[in-house]
Amino acid sequence: NSDLDTAWTVRWIRRSAEVLAAERAALNTLDRDIGDGDHGENMDRGFQAVLPKLDGLADDATPSTVLKLLATTLISTVGGAAGPLYGTAFLKAAGATAAVGTLDGMALVALLTAARDGIVLRGKAGAGDKTMIDAWSPAVDAAQAAQSAGGSAPAVLTAAADAAARGAQDTEPLVARKGRASYLGERAIGHRDPGAQSTALLLRAAVDATRV
Ligand code: ADP
Ligand code: MG
Ligand code: MG
Repeated sequence: NSDLDTAWTVRWIRRSAEVLAAERAALNTLDRDIGDGDHGENMDRGFQAVLPKLDGLADDATPSTVLKLLATTLISTVGGAAGPLYGTAFLKAAGATAAVGTLDGMALVALLTAARDGIVLRGKAGAGDKTMIDAWSPAVDAAQAAQSAGGSAPAVLTAAADAAARGAQDTEPLVARKGRASYLGERAIGHRDPGAQSTALLLRAAVDATRV
């Protein structure tokens, strides 16, 4: 049985923190091109802040309670647009998985869908607005397709991560309609959206965390 448990959720966050620290400068550079240059710093701060809290988890922690801890930490420590957006995403993801102790493919689709819907609720971005939604939405669609085809939990996550990576790349030719990059008009063309890139990194970390 390849369902994912609380330990996977903790590994996902730890791996995310590791990757975001390594990619901090690269994410700042993307954000310097079309924003204010702090996206790597913001993400690194938020994920570093949750690490000590993971060491003190209660024995009855579930994937949902761990996601909720991440959400509240991101909301309280990350300034800027990304804090409340990712915070809402993980809060909704926690809500969507509250009833279960382990996550199968269907639960992961529910988790990813709720996260994406939370970001849309909060930020009102649509497809093609050159935001993190352009990574999340293809990820949700690919996860759904993989789950419908009978894919295991890791297969669902791999499909999501692959689609998010393509989605992040596909933000490069776009003009931004939300966030700071929208002030640039056509000058945003040719630059990858930093939030779409961090989403791709987070979903790849979720796959990495399935390999113990
Ligand atoms: P700030 O722009 O406040 O400095 P960050 O640099 O941390 O915040 O995050 C910027 C990222 O947030 C963008 O690259 C984009 O992906 C995302 N973003 C900004 N506004 C929105 C929105 N309304 N909906 C979805 N994502 C958004
Ligand atoms: Mg910024
Ligand atoms: Mg900022």
